[in-house]
Amino acid sequence: MRRHPRNKLLPESLRAELALQQALTRAGIQDFETRDDVGSRRRSQLRRFARLGITKPARRITKLTACASERGCENVGTCPAACHVASRIERGRLVVRIWERLQDCEGDLWLITIVNDAWRQDEGELYGCNPATLLKWLDRRLDRLGGIKSNLKGVAGVDVSVNEREGECFWQPHLHLLAAGVDKSKLKEALSLKTSCQTHKPVMFKPVQRSELATSVGYVLKRTVEKRVAYLDEEGRQRQRSVKVPSDAVAEHDSWLLRQAVTERFRVIGMRLSRRPLVDPTSFRQIVKVRRKPYSLPFWLRDDEEDDF
Ligand SMILES: [Zn+2]
Repeated sequence: MRRHPRNKLLPESLRAELALQQALTRAGIQDFETRDDVGSRRRSQLRRFARLGITKPARRITKLTACASERGCENVGTCPAACHVASRIERGRLVVRIWERLQDCEGDLWLITIVNDAWRQDEGELYGCNPATLLKWLDRRLDRLGGIKSNLKGVAGVDVSVNEREGECFWQPHLHLLAAGVDKSKLKEALSLKTSCQTHKPVMFKPVQRSELATSVGYVLKRTVEKRVAYLDEEGRQRQRSVKVPSDAVAEHDSWLLRQAVTERFRVIGMRLSRRPLVDPTSFRQIVKVRRKPYSLPFWLRDDEEDDF
C-alpha cells in the first residue's frame, strides 16, 4: 500500500483507521460503517441492556463494557460478535480479503437468500437459533452439488430479521450466500426448498456485478437487524416493507450476538484467506490518547451525538 508521507506523523490509531478506510475504498466500498456509527451504537447497546436488565452472560457483558470504556477493545479476536468495534474490524478484513479472492473468478456471481420457515423463532426466543445449525444445513445442501462443489467459492452468513405478518411478530433466521464458480441452475437444484409462506420465495437469486462485489460481501456479513412488515399492495400482491426495529428487538439481537464469537455466523467457502489483519487492531486502543491531542479529527473519527439505534 502506498502511504502518504504525512501519514507518518499521524498517531497510530489514525493511521490504522486510514489504512482500513483505504483498503475498503480500494475494494469499492464507500459506505461501510464508520467509527462514529460504532461509537454511538455501542453506547446505546449498553444503555439498552441496562434498561432491560440483561445481565447474562455476565463475563461477556463485562468484556463488552470494557470494550466501550476509555481503554477500548483489547483484543478483537476474543470479543463477542456483539462488540461493534471488533465486528467492524473483522468484517472489514473479511470484505477486503474475500473481494481480493473473488474479483478475478470467472462466470456469474450470485447473491442468494434462503429463508426457511422451519428456522423461525418466537419473539424472546432468538437464542434458539444456532448459526452452526443453519451453516450445517447449507453444507449438506451444497454436498448435493457432488464433484462440482469443489468449484464453488463464496461466503455465507446467518442473518435474522423481525418479521410481522397479520399482527404476529417472530424472528426469521435466514442465510445469505454469495456464490461464484457454479452455474445458477445447479445451485438452484441443490438449494431448492418448499414453503407455505406467500410473502416470499424461499430461495432468491440476485445477480451481482463485479463493481458491486465488495458491497455484496458486506451485505452477507452485515451486523444490523431489520424489521419487515408484510402487506398487500393495490393489486393484492403480498409485499414486505422495512420499518424501524423496536429497541427490545435490537437488545435481543445484541444478546444473541453476545453469545457468539466475532465471526461465528459466517462461513468462507472454497477459499483459504490470510489471517493477516488489514490493520493492527490494537492501534485502535489508543483512540482516547489521540482525542486529547489538538488534532482536528476527520469526520469518521469524531464522537458525535448518540443516535437512537
Ligand atoms: Zn471488543
